[in-house]
Amino acid sequence: MTKLEIQRDVPLAPLTTLGLGGPAKHFVRVDDEATLLDALRWAADEGLRSAILGGGSNLIVPDEGYSGLVVQMALGDLEFQAGGRVIAGAGVPWTSIVDGAISRAWAGVECLAGIPGLAGATPIQNVGAYGQEVAEVIAEVRVLRRETLTFESLASADCVFGYRTSLFKSRPECYVVSSVRFALRPGGPGAVRYTELAKNVPVGASLDEIRSTVLALRREKSMVLDADDPNHRSAGSFFLNPVVSASEADRSAEQAARERLVSAPELVPRFPATDGHVKLAAGWLIENAGFQKGTRRGAVGLLTKHALALVHHGGGTSSELLAFADEIRARVRERFGVDLEREPRLLA
Ligand SMILES: Cc1cc2nc3c(=O)[nH]c(=O)nc-3n(C[C@H](O)[C@H](O)[C@H](O)COP(=O)(O)OP(=O)(O)OC[C@H]3O[C@@H](n4cnc5c(N)ncnc54)[C@H](O)[C@@H]3O)c2cc1C
Repeated sequence: MTKLEIQRDVPLAPLTTLGLGGPAKHFVRVDDEATLLDALRWAADEGLRSAILGGGSNLIVPDEGYSGLVVQMALGDLEFQAGGRVIAGAGVPWTSIVDGAISRAWAGVECLAGIPGLAGATPIQNVGAYGQEVAEVIAEVRVLRRETLTFESLASADCVFGYRTSLFKSRPECYVVSSVRFALRPGGPGAVRYTELAKNVPVGASLDEIRSTVLALRREKSMVLDADDPNHRSAGSFFLNPVVSASEADRSAEQAARERLVSAPELVPRFPATDGHVKLAAGWLIENAGFQKGTRRGAVGLLTKHALALVHHGGGTSSELLAFADEIRARVRERFGVDLEREPRLLA
């Protein structure tokens, strides 16, 4: 048994990028697998719930806090091995992996530069940006199975990755990710698939040029963590882009035209998704449902640069943030008949 340092009544707001919410009744920081195991055993023995905290960049902490044990992941081993193999403990900052890969000219994560948080959280919602998703380079995920308290490795094909989802996101009560093995491509070309990126990088751009361009584009949208940016307290995109059937997309576009939000149904943005489905643009739906960029409700509001992220201006509460999100969802549903799904997880 390792020595567990359980703390009491630890404020969680400073450990999240939104800076909202109450304390953890019990809190422990774990930096190896043995301590992680002991922490979950301790919670089970005490009859307490337990929740996992990474970098807190995709998390909403309720104002009343969390009555169980919050386990902060600090497993920090990081190895870059021959052939593009990278093994990262769940507590490794994601940026160390992107920077390490690019300095070795290993392709596969260049478009994911600037995403905050830790390596262990990247498989949870299969992080993605600018045409790249982490699932493309995940070879294996090592997990602690909560029910049996045993470690096992899951091959990428078993992780049920999809658009901002995975087995771990759909069954959070089952798994804790302890490390991830990535398979990058030494000397490989960078991914320039996204139109906005392609417009801004030269043909044959290096991985470093792609990363710099991605970071510049992200900065313009307040999508990097920068304490000097007045929009810095966010959890990134607050809603997923809705993926609907083609007939639902048609219905929604016709409704928008009937309500004179567009002059013709074809003007509602839509993108092909898998299995004949259609991806709609959540930011467009939000703005066209009447919420302009920068709309405020007291201490919370929409980002001034785009309508997809909610921001906390300081002195607010999680309840205010969630109430504003509910207001947006209700209006989008009424205007377009489309349900928006929240992206950040609620610590509950
Ligand atoms: C400015 C900004 C920009 C962003 N841009 C993007 C983007 O472009 N693309 C994108 O996909 N996301 C983006 N995000 C969201 C976020 O950064 C990612 O989802 C990130 O992977 C979350 O990592 P984290 O360590 O902060 O996780 P946390 O916020 O701490 O946790 C998120 C969820 O994962 C669970 N979790 C975390 N670690 C583990 C683990 N080891 N095992 C089991 N469960 C775990 C938590 O319990 C929680 O439910 C952005 C966020 C911000 C603030």
